[in-house]
Amino acid sequence: MPSSGLVKVILDYDGTLTAEEEQVEELAERSIGTLSRDILKVPLSQVREDYSRIRAKIMAEPHKHWWEVNGAIAAYSDEGAFITNTTTIQVMLRTTPSYSEAVARRFPEPEYDPIMDCSNYLFHKNTFDLEPRFRPAAKAVFSELAAAADLETLVLSSSKGDKVRKNLRTIGFAEMRVLGDTRQYEMVPSWNKEFVHPRQGTGQIFQVDEQHTIDLRRPAYYKALMSEMEDSARLIVVADTWSMPGALPMMMGIPFFLLKTTYTPGWCERHVSAHPYGGMLSDLALLPERIRALV
Ligand SMILES: [Mg+2]
Repeated sequence: MPSSGLVKVILDYDGTLTAEEEQVEELAERSIGTLSRDILKVPLSQVREDYSRIRAKIMAEPHKHWWEVNGAIAAYSDEGAFITNTTTIQVMLRTTPSYSEAVARRFPEPEYDPIMDCSNYLFHKNTFDLEPRFRPAAKAVFSELAAAADLETLVLSSSKGDKVRKNLRTIGFAEMRVLGDTRQYEMVPSWNKEFVHPRQGTGQIFQVDEQHTIDLRRPAYYKALMSEMEDSARLIVVADTWSMPGALPMMMGIPFFLLKTTYTPGWCERHVSAHPYGGMLSDLALLPERIRALV
């Protein structure tokens, strides 16, 4: 049983508080540079050309490509600007034999597999120094939530917590608690926890529509959410993408708001809108009133 009346609002970082769509080009260019120079050792123009060819192929049929971890779908390629970049890099490295070999040499003792480790490495290395671009409402929303005695705001990130803390400091929120490195992408096929879907029965992987499934085998994220629930009345999760930060909470009965951005795919919007625990957020500025309507 919850031990207090506190409501924890878990706010995703990249793309929710920040304008990911304005940063992705620079992230891609930095990642292409790192690959060319330090990992693949092939000319920059070649990697750039491969990247744009693979990206175009993926976006022509986004449901056929995904961010894959341990053989499972962590997120579909079109769910977020950074996810499209990560998927493009993974597919490029996986489908080009000389690239796969170079990555295997560079990451000989991987935590996941060499390509996953490589894409994680590129993400952490190349987002760390990106200039933070907070969405216009971020600071005001933070101030309003922080002023409410019955709410605690936490910032959720798969990035290392130090990047997030460093950037929050620039808008005056250095003290904000960061749930860093929560690994919403960490898929563990051997995890045996099952979930009950209102129409599809008991299981771990459910159908979203004809082209998409959702895989809930995310024990690290599950544990993080369960642990935050222990000393609160309820949680609310807010993010700009669905599969990684949103699907699991929704299935656990935790309200989830999906922020609508320039890259939000229609299939995510349809699914979240129709779900009893889901809701679309058309602008980050509206978050405080949407939370007030719930608690
Ligand atoms: Mg995000």
